[in-house]
This record gives sequence, structure tokens and C-alpha cells, in this order.
Amino acid sequence: MITSDQYRERMAKLKPNVYMGGKVVDRFDPKLLGGMNVMAMTYDLAYDPELDGIGVTTSHLTGERINRFTHVHQSVEDLFSKQKMTRLYCQEVGGCIQRCMGIDSLNALSVATYDADQKYGTKYNENFINFMKRVQSEDLSLNCAQTDVKGNRPKRPHEQADPDLYLRVVEKRPDGIIVNGAKAHNSCSVYVDEIVAIPTRNMTAEEPDWAVAFAVPSDWEGVTLVNAAYSPPPRKKLEAPFNKTGISHSITVFDHVFVPWERVFLCGETDMAGKLALLFALYHRHSYTGCKAAVSEIFTGATALAAEYNGIARAQHVRHKLADMIQVVDLIYAAGIAAAVNSKKTPSGTQVPDTNYCNAGRMLAGDAIYHEFESLAAIAGGLAATLPPEGDFYDEKIGPYMEKYIMRNPDISAENQHRAFRLFQDMMASTWGGHKLIDYLHGGGSPVIEKVAIYRDHNLEHSKDIVKKLAGIPFEGSSMNIDREPPAWL
Ligand SMILES: Cc1cc2nc3c(=O)[nH]c(=O)nc-3n(C[C@H](O)[C@H](O)[C@H](O)COP(=O)(O)OP(=O)(O)OC[C@H]3O[C@@H](n4cnc5c(N)ncnc54)[C@H](O)[C@@H]3O)c2cc1C
Repeated sequence: MITSDQYRERMAKLKPNVYMGGKVVDRFDPKLLGGMNVMAMTYDLAYDPELDGIGVTTSHLTGERINRFTHVHQSVEDLFSKQKMTRLYCQEVGGCIQRCMGIDSLNALSVATYDADQKYGTKYNENFINFMKRVQSEDLSLNCAQTDVKGNRPKRPHEQADPDLYLRVVEKRPDGIIVNGAKAHNSCSVYVDEIVAIPTRNMTAEEPDWAVAFAVPSDWEGVTLVNAAYSPPPRKKLEAPFNKTGISHSITVFDHVFVPWERVFLCGETDMAGKLALLFALYHRHSYTGCKAAVSEIFTGATALAAEYNGIARAQHVRHKLADMIQVVDLIYAAGIAAAVNSKKTPSGTQVPDTNYCNAGRMLAGDAIYHEFESLAAIAGGLAATLPPEGDFYDEKIGPYMEKYIMRNPDISAENQHRAFRLFQDMMASTWGGHKLIDYLHGGGSPVIEKVAIYRDHNLEHSKDIVKKLAGIPFEGSSMNIDREPPAWL
């Protein structure tokens, strides 16, 4: 395990390959610092005595103490601890903790590389285990570059006008492969050690070139990160932890990138591409049951605070809204716990969460998020949008007006009223808030994708059998079983 200072020292050594606004920028550019601070928290929080070691565990590979973000889940408890850690950490940073991408891709690879080797006699799992040992001993931070830019949506990878619209292998050499293409929306890629690229979807027999997975350092030769950075608006006087955070998302261009064989985890085994894609999505949705529970709780807390500061906490419509919000927090988190309880050990030794519970939790989160924005906006009132800039509160002439006229509930100081409504404004009426509206909907997979997964993985024949029995219609099998088997694709 390393410290956040050691993490930052490593980031300082990366070669410049980050573009913003048509210019190469330093990784310590002020626009990137908020996101880097969040990643750094994943190192600091592992040592936080208040968190009782939730961020630390023991490697099943080496027996060493490791940061939980580098662990491959071996048990129900591992899955639950990861979910709990994710929720606690996301509460601390006021949103996405970002490092889940790494742990989720590692877990997916641990299963898919093992299965590929069993079926094809390849060496991907050996490559993966060697990579894992480095990830654990050096405490590496990772981005998962899964989402391809995808071009014309209804067309498959091999049908695209430009075959590079899905990342692909363009050459195989004795010492490695050359890949070309780009991945989209890659969060935290500009301030991580390594980028793990995996397929975004299933691949057909015509698509072995697109069935590729590998890891390269984030500043690797031929990799260019074209980045969009977001942070809550910076503060001049009214400092707050939320405003020291941020996030980044890149289009990651792989321009004829050489990947040595020892860094390749899949190359041409088309049936494993879909499995790997689904496994990553599954682990990521399980992480979402931690992070989205935190985000929903933050919206719930903000709405309750707005009600208290506006002096309307006892109004019935406020209580109804809060009860609805609390229910969402609890159901999202419960879905993750259920997914851990109903998880299965795969032949690789890795514990895989229940697919339907994960997808149900993530789908509820995606559906609820706009209601959560609406509830906070409704209860906070218009000030969340029209709050004058911070400087007005510190101006010699108009500052006293601001202090006087921001007052609502007389039991709350003017500064705390200002702090609360400034936070609500940052959460909803800022560039940050606008970007989050889209992030919370699509990040981790758009709700429609969860619908597809839920429909695919639920045994509807079993549901029908229950009804057939009630109706007296003959059916085969038993209607008495409520234990769900893992889906066929797993
Ligand atoms: C803030 C943020 C951070 C993210 N971070 C990461 C990351 O770090 N790594 C990563 O790999 N991904 C990341 N993602 C990607 C995320 O998983 C995708 O946004 C999501 O899967 C949707 O893909 P898309 O954005 O390409 O949308 P699209 O695929 O363009 O979807 C848009 C709409 O079109 C529909 N659609 C798409 N294809 C079809 C079709 N064939 N037929 C009918 N309808 C279709 C979809 O259902 C959807 O409603 C991030 C996304 C966001 C917003």
C-alpha cells in the first residue's frame, strides 16, 4: 500500500499526453486537481482510523495487506465490504470515488481470463495474475476503458464505415499486438497509473479483431487523452470539502499502440468478449449500489437541510418527499447486499454478484436521480439558482445586505444559510451539476441497458409456472424454488 503523496509523485512522472482545449496540459493543471484529489482520497481513507480498516484487506495471491481497490473478491463478505467502502468513500467526496473502475475491471478479468484459458489453452490468466501482483504491490490506480465510440449505433463493429470506431487489433507480432481506435467517456484516465481496455459488447465470429483486452500505462506511446474536466465551482473565501473535488473524462485515442503479449488479456476469442463486457458491467453495477446509495443520501440530506433552513421541515409534503428519497437510498443499497448474499463462486475462485439484484439497483438509481434533483430544487426554492456570487457576501457595501436578506430560519446563522445554499447551487445550477445530471443517468450503463439485462437474466418460465400452478395448468418442474441460478452467459 502507498500513500497519497506517493500516488501524486507517480502522477508527476507521467509523460504529457493529456489534451484540453487543443493544448497539451500538465497533469497538475488546476482543472485536473479536483479529480486527482478524489483519487488521492482512496489512498488516504485506507489509513483512516474512523473507517475501521474497511479499505484494507489481504491479497489472496500474496497474503500481503492491500488496498481493497486492488482486491479480487473471494467471498460474500468481500463483495459486501467493497459495497460498504464505496458508499462511505462516496459520502466523503460528495459523489463518485472513481477508483471502482479499476477493481471492477480486475474482477471481471479474473473470471474471463480464467475461462478463456480453460477453453482455449491460452495464457491470459497468467498474464492477468502477474499484472494483478503489480497492481497490488504498487497500489496502482486504474481506469477501465470499456465504452467504444461506437459510430453508427445500429451497426455492429465489423459493419461500421470506419472499422476503428470500435477499438481493434490491426497487427499481431511475435512480441505483441498493435491496436487502433478510441474509447469514450474514460473517467479518471488522466490521473491513473494504468488504463485497462476491454470490449464494450459481445462479438460475433466475424469480429475476432475487436475481441481484445489489455492494460497499458496511461502515458504509453501512442495513447492520447483528450479530456473534459469538471469541478464544483472554486471558492475564494467560503472553503468547503466538496469544492476541492472534481472528475475528468477523456476520449482515449489508441493510435497504432503496441501492447506486449504479457499485457494482453484477450485477443480474438469472440465468445469471451461478451462475457468480459457483461462481467465488468455487472461488477460496476454492484459498485453503483454503494456509490448511488451515497449520492441519493446526499440529495436526501440536502433536501432535509433545505427544509430545516427554510423553516418548513414539518410540512407534510416535505416529509413525503423525504420518505420517498430514503426509500430509494435503502432499496439501492439493499439490492447490493442481496447481490452479495446471492453471489456465486466461479471456477476461477472469484465471487460474482447476482445479476438481477445488481441491475435492479442500478436501474432504480438511474430512474430516481431526476426525482432527487426535483425534490431538492422544489424544497430549496429559487435561491439555489439565483444566489448572488460569493464575492457579494464579502463586499464591504453589499455584504451586510446579503447577510441580512439570506436569513430564513432564525436559528441558523447567515453563514451556514449561505454555505448550504451555495452547496445546493453547486450541486444543481452549475456546470458541475449539469454534467452530473448526465453522469448519474448514463455512467455505469444507461437504465435501458439494465432493463435489457433484467429481462434477459430473469427466469420468466419459472414466474409463469407459479401462475400455471395457481390456475391449475399443467407445467414441468417445480414452482417452489426461489433460488436463482446464475444466468447462462456466466
Ligand atoms: C460521466 C460518465 C462517465 C463514464 N465513465 C466511463 C468510463 O470511465 N469508462 C467507460 O468505459 N465508460 C464510461 N462511461 C460510459 C457509459 O457506460 C456510457 O455512457 C453508457 O454505456 C451509454 O453509452 P453511450 O454514452 O455511448 O450512449 P449511446 O450508446 O449513444 O446511447 C444513447 C441512446 O441510444 C440508445 N441506443 C444505443 N444503441 C442502440 C441501438 N443499437 N438500438 C437502439 N437504441 C440504441 C441507448 O439505449 C441510449 O438510450 C461514462 C459515461 C458517463 C456519462
